[in-house]
Amino acid sequence: MESVVLYPIPARGHLISAVELAKLILTQNPSLIINIVLTNPPIKLGPTAPFVAAVSSAIPSIKFHHLPTVPIDPDSYPSHRAILFDHYRLVNPHFRQVLRSLSGDFTLRCLVIDFFCFPALHIASELNIPTYYFFTSGASCLALFLHLPTIYENTTQSFKDLENTFVDLSFMPPVPLSHMPESTLVRGTPECLHIINCAVHLKKSAGIIVNTFESLEPKAVKALSNGNCILDHRIPPVYCIGPLTITTNQSTRDSTTMECLTWLDMQPSRSVVFVCFGSMGLLSKQQLRELGLGLERSYYRFLWVVRNPPSDTQSKDPIAQPDPDLNLLLPDGFLDRTRDRGLVVKSWAPQVAVLSHDSVGGFVTHCGWNSVLESICAVVPMIGWPLYAEQKINKVLLMKELEVALPMNESDGGGSVSSAEVEKRVRELMDESEKRKSLRKRVMEKRDEAMAALSHQNGSSRVALAKLVESWYNI
Ligand code: UDP
Repeated sequence: MESVVLYPIPARGHLISAVELAKLILTQNPSLIINIVLTNPPIKLGPTAPFVAAVSSAIPSIKFHHLPTVPIDPDSYPSHRAILFDHYRLVNPHFRQVLRSLSGDFTLRCLVIDFFCFPALHIASELNIPTYYFFTSGASCLALFLHLPTIYENTTQSFKDLENTFVDLSFMPPVPLSHMPESTLVRGTPECLHIINCAVHLKKSAGIIVNTFESLEPKAVKALSNGNCILDHRIPPVYCIGPLTITTNQSTRDSTTMECLTWLDMQPSRSVVFVCFGSMGLLSKQQLRELGLGLERSYYRFLWVVRNPPSDTQSKDPIAQPDPDLNLLLPDGFLDRTRDRGLVVKSWAPQVAVLSHDSVGGFVTHCGWNSVLESICAVVPMIGWPLYAEQKINKVLLMKELEVALPMNESDGGGSVSSAEVEKRVRELMDESEKRKSLRKRVMEKRDEAMAALSHQNGSSRVALAKLVESWYNI
């Protein structure tokens, strides 16, 4: 029997995308078995067990394998990212065992790894299994990452000190170096070197699968496929097979889902702004108050997902935190004053269902790539408020290239946003103005193009998927 092995990190956005990728591969070749290998990092990246159980019982061709826990002392690392990077190095012997055992049971056509799991690359090459990357952000961001080692070599300074130096690739809007993911900002740290190393290793894979579609980022996709050479770097074939967004049966409705959807049912069409910062976005107490005041003063309806502010331990484990005490965190009397037009939910909302609801007309987002694709697929224009990872790069793309989002600007260099800015931007997004019409028109065009890429026989994402699967048989 033939199999493809996927090795995602067990963070919600990454795992869901990996399962969606698995389903897509099965549409192309239903006889394959997709083996998904998961580790148990010392930091919680999301509640994966119920999701894994649901997928296992619904799709027998997808099988999960859990690697044993490896001991690691989180206190000896500066951040959750550093822990995660080292975790994938330490767990490698177990990964080798599982891959060996799977290659005894199946003909392994390829291994598809997450960006974070690059230590697995040499295990696969030891066992002669071609390795592909699954890049869970967009093509423009991929191009930038591929170029990162060159940028690093060409300066002696830390990226954080280069806010006036722009990466100017001809196929995307210029991005300041200080917008690079936080792991890369301080030169020479283990985290920074790890990311640079990841970028170097991307080029050594058999191919890179990207969760985007050609017409979303045509210039970047063209640059990535132009003779497989970008800015003098040879790169492997790139397959843009997206947008992959959640299709898993969401019929199990928990109480939060019911609460959100029932509340949305009572609101007028496109009247609600949804405010949510991904699976790990945390705001300080002061920032939560400013955001609350801005929402209140905008007079628009809102559905807001509130999480506890970061604390020292939470910065190492951003997901494992208790539900917030809203009365302590939000401005005095806020919940009473906004009762008629706002719903605040604690920690988590069913984002895809919310965005797809007819009452939602705008999205204040941290610009995580899954959130961006989900918003486009639901035809909801955005306000970009990036917080971590590659989100600042995504924000530039959303505003300057795609023109589907407005910015949420900081009032200082430290990332704080004032209530006045929140009020102004929410109004700008939600007021029936030419600006709103043009944002909606752009999002709708992109949604239509996404559907065409996925559903037409010759849609670019379907063609890319067919080429990808074919490549496994021609290596
Ligand atoms: N999500 C959700 N409810 C929340 C927060 C996030 O359903 O309250 C989902 C969201 O729909 C998306 C994923 O979690 O699928 C977040 O992925 P993204 O790439 O946007 O951001 P990340 O969490 O990886 O930073």
